[in-house]
Amino acid sequence: MKYISTRGQSPALSFSEILLGGLAPDGGLYLPKQYPHFSDADLTAMRSMSYCNLAFAILSRLVDDIPASDLKAIIDKTYTAEVYGFTRAGQNSEDITPTVKLEDNLYLLSLSNGPTLAFKDMAMQLLGNLFEYVLAKTGETTNILGATSGDTGSAAEYAMRGKKGVRVFMLSPHQKMSRFQTAQMFSLQDDNIFNIAVTGVFDDAQDMVKAVSNDHAFKAKYKIGAVNSINWGRIVAQVVYYFKGYFAVTQNNSQKVSFTVPSGNFGNVCAGHIARMMGLPIDKLVVATNENDVLDEFFKTGVYKPRGSANTYHTSSPSMDISKASNFERFVYDLVGKDGAKVRELWGSVDQGGAFDLTSYMSKVKAEFGFISGSSNHANRMQTIRQTKKKYGVVIDTHTADGLKVALELRDAKTPMVVLETALPAKFEDALVEALGEVPPRPASLNGIEALPQKFTVMDANVEAIKAFIVANT
Ligand SMILES: *Cc1c(COP(=O)(O)O)cnc(C)c1O
Repeated sequence: MKYISTRGQSPALSFSEILLGGLAPDGGLYLPKQYPHFSDADLTAMRSMSYCNLAFAILSRLVDDIPASDLKAIIDKTYTAEVYGFTRAGQNSEDITPTVKLEDNLYLLSLSNGPTLAFKDMAMQLLGNLFEYVLAKTGETTNILGATSGDTGSAAEYAMRGKKGVRVFMLSPHQKMSRFQTAQMFSLQDDNIFNIAVTGVFDDAQDMVKAVSNDHAFKAKYKIGAVNSINWGRIVAQVVYYFKGYFAVTQNNSQKVSFTVPSGNFGNVCAGHIARMMGLPIDKLVVATNENDVLDEFFKTGVYKPRGSANTYHTSSPSMDISKASNFERFVYDLVGKDGAKVRELWGSVDQGGAFDLTSYMSKVKAEFGFISGSSNHANRMQTIRQTKKKYGVVIDTHTADGLKVALELRDAKTPMVVLETALPAKFEDALVEALGEVPPRPASLNGIEALPQKFTVMDANVEAIKAFIVANT
């Protein structure tokens, strides 16, 4: 299985060759040349598999250059009950992603039981082990440069801390993450972890990362790698839990299931799209946004109009405060019939700060690809958190609340709806206190994390400044 770029002008590469990189040289994102397909018989065989065996069944069809026994060992080392142990009372952490039934045909899929209490651990922990494996083989090193609105950064740092051959330079919007998120990242004292607080919003930080990655000479000289959500290794790891969730709520493969996904950079729901393309019987993929509703606007109108940082709101579901959804290009590539020239044309205008109009494709978006969408706001989020506690006795975080709010509006009576739980409530304490008047339960090992000493550097949103910082610290 070789990987090609959505913009059609980069050579096809193997899995390990794209693992450490970010964007393809032509500015596109990597996708497999074609998606593997799982037949009904395959799905039946996968139905009763453990998380690790399921992950191997899927990844082994997409990883072309790591021996099967090594890949299996990497997966087995990653998805353990110890690493994904922050389960709710009564849940089995051996399940890795246990399901919570709220009522008939309505479920939460718990994806946030890893070390940083957000779904990004699902992919990032695997990536950490894959990086270490690939680098050890070639004797190389990498400098990971990333941008985070909160959860990517901590997940990356906890996955990469202490890993040989890896340094992490993580940009975040200065003073715009929750106190807990900030503490999680900035309290890491590891020598290979560098936290940079950018005076701006997430998109400013992401633009800096993109600019450095587009400087091909610098990127090559300083071996710049990426773990932000455009990294293919992350997407592929996220495909697995759609299968796990599907099997958990169905008896056989004739039942279709819908998923609602709290979305920002479109990475998580893109993995759902890929699972669907691989033959998983998904009915609807529901994209749920917060007040930053660029994606909701697209799925309602066919117009994709990314916004600048001045029009990106700081909300109480901060990990979705994104107005330029990097992974969206992967879906659009499939939507326009895998036409790299068309994608170049569309992003030609987006990259200049413009928009594009795919109104004529909208019936396909719904009928062929199953996408629909909705959005949520602060008042909806607070109300959903309160109602979920009252009705089901379950406390959810603000991002999951955005998902559940939209799911309740768009579900149909006959189709099981699975809402992806993307973070645990402990991560967003202030908002939870506002909603419920009480502090959400926190895993004991994380008590007092805000009081630990913090290590970080404040920087203007300036590409030369981050380059100089990397040069000075490698
Ligand atoms: C990252 C994140 C999201 C958004 O996921 P994308 O893959 O960027 O769409 C939603 N919720 C939480 C808690 C997150 O950390």
